[in-house]
Amino acid sequence: MQPPTTIRRRLNELEVRRRLRERPRVQGRILAPAGMFRRLPKAPGLYFPFYHDVPREYGRDLRRHLRTFRDIGAMVSWDDALAILAGRKPLTGPVFCVNFDDGHLSWRDVVAPILFDLNVPATFFVTTGLIGEAGNLTWSDVRELSGAGFGLGSHTVTHHRLADQDDMVAARELLDSKNEIEDQVGVAVRDFAAPYGNPAVDYLQRDVIAAREAGYRSFASTRRDAMHPGDSPMSINRQGLHPAWPLWAVRTRVHG
Ligand SMILES: [Zn+2]
Repeated sequence: MQPPTTIRRRLNELEVRRRLRERPRVQGRILAPAGMFRRLPKAPGLYFPFYHDVPREYGRDLRRHLRTFRDIGAMVSWDDALAILAGRKPLTGPVFCVNFDDGHLSWRDVVAPILFDLNVPATFFVTTGLIGEAGNLTWSDVRELSGAGFGLGSHTVTHHRLADQDDMVAARELLDSKNEIEDQVGVAVRDFAAPYGNPAVDYLQRDVIAAREAGYRSFASTRRDAMHPGDSPMSINRQGLHPAWPLWAVRTRVHG
């Protein structure tokens, strides 16, 4: 039996998107024209650009992105970003809070040296079930990132879509990952990034409530708008980027 046309079309779209993700330079070139009429931000606003794996071949590109942000505004830690949202620190221009998802080995080998070199703070959202798996960090690596001054947050245990889980399982994803990072690294974990990150699709209001109950102070999505003082830390907007993208493609995600 054939699935209905709309579903088939949707599956095709997903397939195209998946293939593009595997070819980030092509994806960046396709996105770029849409950035033609966008400008990098000039007005006060808080942006949370985030990345995943940064293979060595994209190290120079990541450096170029970060330098571009640094030329426009301040690069702040997650703590400082939350202080700005709470009105405890001023927001005088565009401000960037860089972060990374999943647990890739390249964070240790490629990303951290670049962040050090450019003096850019960052937070790493760790999927605890990935730690120690091939291509990912070990707990010893995660401890080193933390010891070097980078922030750590949770990105669940299994990277399953929270919205697909029942209440109990979803709550365990939030709590068990937090506990494991805290046990393994010895730091308090209070920031969470939802896998896939679309509100009401990939996670539910139920999960935000469970996160607060588990002791999290912030909850990150993949909504993209700039943030401002007074916005809720339990609904952090982030802009997903790939270092291979040209700046025009970056402007489709990070813009004024
Ligand atoms: Zn992820």
